[in-house]
Amino acid sequence: MADLKHTSIQFLHGVGPARAKLLQQELGIVSYHDLLYYFPFRYLDRSVIHHINEITPQHAMVQLRGRFISFAVAGEGRRQRLQALFTDGTGTIEVVWFSRVNYIRRAYGTGKTYLLYGKPTLFNNHFNIVHPEVDAVTDDNPTPVGQGMQGVYSLTEKLHTHQVTSRTIFKLVSAVLQTPAAREVAETLPPDVMQRYRLMPLHEALRNMHCPADQQALQRAQFRLKFEELFFLQLNILRYIKGGVQRLKGHVFARVGHYFNGFYHNVLQWPLTGAQKRVIREIRHDMGSGKQMNRLLQGDVGSGKTIVAFMTALIALDNGFQACIMAPTEILAGQHLETIQQLARPIGVRVALLTGSTRKRERDAIHEGLMSGELQILIGTHALIEDNVKWRNLGLAIIDEQHRFGVAQRARLWHKNPVAPPHVLVMTATPIPRTLAMTVYGDLDVSVIDELPPGRKPVNTVMRTEDDRPAMYRFVGSQLRAGRQAYIVYPLIEENEKLDLHDLEQGYEQVQETFPHYRVAMVHGRMKPAEKDHQMALFASGQAHILVATTVIEVGVNVPNASVMVIENAERFGLSQLHQLRGRVGRGADQSYCILMSRHDLTRDTRHRLTVMTQTNDGFVVAEEDMKLRGPGDLEGTQQSGVAFNLRVANIAQDGQIVQLARDAAQAWLDHDPQLTTTWGAAMDRHLHELWDKQENWGLIS
Ligand code: ADP
Ligand code: MG
Repeated sequence: MADLKHTSIQFLHGVGPARAKLLQQELGIVSYHDLLYYFPFRYLDRSVIHHINEITPQHAMVQLRGRFISFAVAGEGRRQRLQALFTDGTGTIEVVWFSRVNYIRRAYGTGKTYLLYGKPTLFNNHFNIVHPEVDAVTDDNPTPVGQGMQGVYSLTEKLHTHQVTSRTIFKLVSAVLQTPAAREVAETLPPDVMQRYRLMPLHEALRNMHCPADQQALQRAQFRLKFEELFFLQLNILRYIKGGVQRLKGHVFARVGHYFNGFYHNVLQWPLTGAQKRVIREIRHDMGSGKQMNRLLQGDVGSGKTIVAFMTALIALDNGFQACIMAPTEILAGQHLETIQQLARPIGVRVALLTGSTRKRERDAIHEGLMSGELQILIGTHALIEDNVKWRNLGLAIIDEQHRFGVAQRARLWHKNPVAPPHVLVMTATPIPRTLAMTVYGDLDVSVIDELPPGRKPVNTVMRTEDDRPAMYRFVGSQLRAGRQAYIVYPLIEENEKLDLHDLEQGYEQVQETFPHYRVAMVHGRMKPAEKDHQMALFASGQAHILVATTVIEVGVNVPNASVMVIENAERFGLSQLHQLRGRVGRGADQSYCILMSRHDLTRDTRHRLTVMTQTNDGFVVAEEDMKLRGPGDLEGTQQSGVAFNLRVANIAQDGQIVQLARDAAQAWLDHDPQLTTTWGAAMDRHLHELWDKQENWGLIS
């Protein structure tokens, strides 16, 4: 590759200093290598040569082989045009140019053989072709690019005005492909991987990306390059992150003892779902393996992650260890405490809460309890990872709502036990598509709870506009009369916090006026935590019937009696956020409703987004749609994870299967060559360095 990377495109025929500079500025293309990796976004099929007498209006494009019979200039001034007659022996067809008349008149002659490629149009009962692509067929170039498919490249406005067309690029690429350096480009993947996955060799793949022999060759070329990209990505993740952690031994939790069994047999009210059982098995296996567990537990809102977390903690306790559960907000930590205390009390497990607002006295007692081992489960916020929090024997850390925590914070947890890092279970309700999860959180194994507890009815979701407001309020009223509670949520966009707050407060007043006989609570991010907690508590206890709120209630809040979620200005929310909000209702056995209030005049994307919500309750479907609409780069969490980077050919949203294959392949390689020290391993190691030297992000993780 070195050659290709260090040869400037200036050395190509037709590229002078000016053009080279233009290509660099507009497309970032400097070297032969850059050009080869500038892939087409679509293809023209030039594998077929048509006959003039067979052209029908159904032909979108035709390719003809023949000669020009005559040229004639017609019209004056701006209406001037060049008309030529072209024949292939089966008939004649008119070819027309409206610009560059003199140039074309000089460039093409009668008597020579040409390939014409263009769109036939019916004009006065005859077909003609306007501005076709023309290639001379010569003795040393008997089939000029003509056979097979040709890439079409995206270009900038400026390139167009400087007469650099898609075809110019194609010709330049073709020239590079002819060079020995391109033909002998070094293979980046080891032979066993190539064989196992039947991959097209790199040089062939590159050629077929630009001028594939046929559709099948194109697909194989794309597969090869996607695979390669994802393979190296996974190799890097698995090696630097997982590899690093795996070398750390983990505490062996071999026993399932009286805490776990006692809870399971005597306290748990309902049977676990199949998915919950499976996930607990996966976790038990990890924690018993002797290696440190790093597992991501994904489950849609309401899928019952809390109970899994708690039972996981019980296994730690059964083996003489302590556990902690970390939540992103005080509200959530408080809710966890409440839920878990209820579960823990009957089996005599001691639980406490530690947050930023825990009083000194209590804090001291907690510290003492942690050191003595008296305290078995600590629930809290970031306060848990502060340096002065010391444990007797922390064996398990559970992190709720992963996307609010960075990798660095997770790392701090590892140091909480001097003997070996605690096992880590990360729970998220942001349903990251599995493929993306593997790519982004490649250092974590993934478990999925893909089943809701029985008896849940899907939330009935509808779109409504301002005209429907009275009817909407009547509906909310009917639910309140039936003893249920309602959320009304307003967007809060930080750039304009004041205005948003104004919206919220106005909404609050309107709701109070509309429902004079009900109590209305309100929470927003600017409140003091104590006031927020008070308002939340009013709603959670049922003293308040309606909660007017910003998205602070987005994650985790659990009030099963709430049956209506009204989302104001729903068009201002992303899909995943809408889904999270909707997840606040439908947590009991009764029918729940989500009402998306929006403007009339929505863009197509926005309308699509809201429509998706009305059509599915499945968080994974929602997340996939979200990713299609926004692209994976925008997904919450990718930023912090620090692995956002450019993929040229692979698309995580669409290439899930290849991600899986590439991951398996990378893992298999590392199983026998963990340090990349074999000949091929070392070569791949060098390649990785080349690939990621530019991407500083990676340094942060490993
Ligand atoms: P999430 O995954 O969103 O954190 P929770 O753990 O809060 O979900 O569970 C949502 C609700 O479902 C809780 O009220 C919980 O008690 C209940 N639940 C969990 N698992 C089951 C089950 N297997 N059968 C019945 N109800 C369950
Ligand atoms: Mg939860």
